[in-house]
Amino acid sequence: MLKTERKAEQKVIEFQEVLDQTDTVLIGAGAGLSTAAGFAYGGEPFRRYFADFDEKYGFHDMYSGGFYPFPTLEEHWAYWSRFVFLNRYCDPPKPVYKNLLELVKDKDYFVLTTNVDHCFQKAGFDKHRLFYTQGDYGLWQCSKPCHNKTYDNGDIIRQMVEAQGFQVTGQGMELPTGTVSKMAVPTELVPHCPKCGAPMAMNLRADHTFVQDEGWYIAAGRYDDFVRRHKNTPVLYLELGVGMNTPGIIKYNFWRQVYQNPKANYICINKGQSYAPREIANRSICLDMDAAQVLIG
Ligand SMILES: [Zn+2]
Repeated sequence: MLKTERKAEQKVIEFQEVLDQTDTVLIGAGAGLSTAAGFAYGGEPFRRYFADFDEKYGFHDMYSGGFYPFPTLEEHWAYWSRFVFLNRYCDPPKPVYKNLLELVKDKDYFVLTTNVDHCFQKAGFDKHRLFYTQGDYGLWQCSKPCHNKTYDNGDIIRQMVEAQGFQVTGQGMELPTGTVSKMAVPTELVPHCPKCGAPMAMNLRADHTFVQDEGWYIAAGRYDDFVRRHKNTPVLYLELGVGMNTPGIIKYNFWRQVYQNPKANYICINKGQSYAPREIANRSICLDMDAAQVLIG
């Protein structure tokens, strides 16, 4: 075994020891955790479900098409419904989230996440212990927005996908052999705001129009309570797959809280971006690994 491998293995053991000794865990999760769970915006899944969009527009991954100004709402929702169905309503291929739940389910835990794919709920995490700060692929809002409410999109997303020729199976969608997918949804499925009639939009924090609904404020309050209750107690801050896109929400926030609480420990699991500032280094374990390596083995 190489020296670096031995060192990584040792750190995983240290992580498990710290976890065993701590009854309170604050999880911070970013996009890297869902990547580790096998969700991929490019590659085979993209070619399989978006070949027609690739051919027409030259997109090579699901993300690039997400903000493209399609000429019609029918086409816009054809694209987004496939995207949402795959990333919000299907389970991730690997049991990263389920294994994470096994580690913390008997502890006092809370999850702060910038992910919008619902993976924590799908894996069985208690929804009262979750704060999704950036929205949810499963919700729509008024595009203006004229009011602060969000709407579940599950039923209509499924109908949109089926209307394009896909067959929805228990755990995914398939294009039956010989079927050519339609790149538009029927006009009657295009969603409009029930109050002002403007087109609906995804409930994602992309700009100032993002709606923070009642559920968002309730979750924010629960997160604040959790932090307040534990600010002088031993807490493990467990950061998973958080990159540098929006470091203020989880990463810098965790560093500051760990610094202010001498009984807290910080663990960062992220391939290629695992780091802790010097001030908290003696209470930190940084694992330069994919979360799947640590949580699945
Ligand atoms: Zn409206």
